[in-house]
Amino acid sequence: MNNSSLLKRDLAVLWHPCTQMKDHETLPLVPIHSGKGVWLKDYEDKKYLDAVSSWWVNLFGHSNPKISNAIKNQVDTLEHVLLAGFSHEPAISLAEKLIDISPPSLQRCFYADNGSSAVEAALKMSYHYWLNTGKEKKTKFITLSNSYHGETLGALAVGDVALYKKTYKPLLMECIVVPSPDCYERDEGQSWEEHSEKMFQQMEKALAKHADETCAVIIEPLIQCAGNMRMYDPIYIKLLREACDKYNVHLIADEIAVGFGRTGTMFACEQADVSPDYMCLSKGITGGYLPLSVVLTTDQIYQAFYDDYENLTAFLHSHSYTGNPIACAAALATLDIFEKENIIEKNKFLAEKLGSSVADLQDHPNIGEVRQTGMVVAMEMCKNKKTKEPFPWQERRGLKVYLHGLENGVLLRPLGNVVYFMPPYVITNDEIDLMASVAKSGIEIAVR
Ligand SMILES: *Cc1c(COP(=O)(O)O)cnc(C)c1O
Repeated sequence: MNNSSLLKRDLAVLWHPCTQMKDHETLPLVPIHSGKGVWLKDYEDKKYLDAVSSWWVNLFGHSNPKISNAIKNQVDTLEHVLLAGFSHEPAISLAEKLIDISPPSLQRCFYADNGSSAVEAALKMSYHYWLNTGKEKKTKFITLSNSYHGETLGALAVGDVALYKKTYKPLLMECIVVPSPDCYERDEGQSWEEHSEKMFQQMEKALAKHADETCAVIIEPLIQCAGNMRMYDPIYIKLLREACDKYNVHLIADEIAVGFGRTGTMFACEQADVSPDYMCLSKGITGGYLPLSVVLTTDQIYQAFYDDYENLTAFLHSHSYTGNPIACAAALATLDIFEKENIIEKNKFLAEKLGSSVADLQDHPNIGEVRQTGMVVAMEMCKNKKTKEPFPWQERRGLKVYLHGLENGVLLRPLGNVVYFMPPYVITNDEIDLMASVAKSGIEIAVR
């Protein structure tokens, strides 16, 4: 088997996610044979450093022996059982662990099997909570501009990335969209904190106006990842928590991308010292091995559904693979690595190295900003540094960085004009240097 024979077979039968398939008339499609640590290897033994953790899911490297072994052990014991009327030890242990490490008011775990499904469950739960407590006028959601919460219709509706959403607008429920605290947009001389605090005024206004009809505010804490890695200050989450309490509106923290250490703390909400009413987790939860997601919520919300069956207040929502035991075993092994290897502490050094590896780009005439939150570093290419005028999207500058990366053995997958690093936590200093040097030469070519 070689690359080209696989490509031919692939293009005859597959329809790839998030892809204009016609692009593959000219763009390479890379068949991967195996992975080890941060490295992926194709069928002709060419290696690629996975700088984006395979769409932000991988935490401790490909083919990690600890996670692989946990899965092997689980497979021969119990591969799957329905989670209604039945239970299993991996699901219970994982729920106990997640409740233990997540913000204090989160006391219940509802499993699903991917990020979008977790968002859907949280939205439905919030609406249903208000219905069960006699507030049937609450049917709307408040979201931030430039936010992303997944691709299924409910998750898409509460997102705001036009590229994914615009086409499907007639199918989507309407939301109240409040301008994002995105600090790339701050005035010169303003700090992230000042800008985030200033932007909160519009959220406060929206809450004051719409509280009676609003179930929840949904946010991606600290980083709008799919929205081009735009970042903001924890003060915004702090103020939002206070306002949600004041106006009797739920707070949904979508930590699907930022959870499990990406922002420097285990969960991003910790940096604001905030407990949301719902926290959605997925992606890194299994170390990047298997699909699994969870909605964590409070005991107070759980109790609003707890009643005699005849009163029909139960949350009758399910997915076939809810809480799959193999996925739970992978998640338990992942959490074990965090704990035993003191990952959050160790990552502080890695984060520093990540940031310093591209700090010199700050002065580049076509880089509007190099920004960082924890283990995520983003470099925004622009046409005019002074005005931050972007390159027109049609020019697909990011794609040039992507192609240069592939040629030079680094998997960078820019979001529009934004090149970013979100690598597995097992990356070494030398590998960071390689990743940074390929990103820099790629940017040089792309901005020409
Ligand atoms: C990826 C992502 C989702 C959707 O998760 P899927 O597993 O791809 O459905 C939702 N919210 C955020 C913040 C994400 O980054």
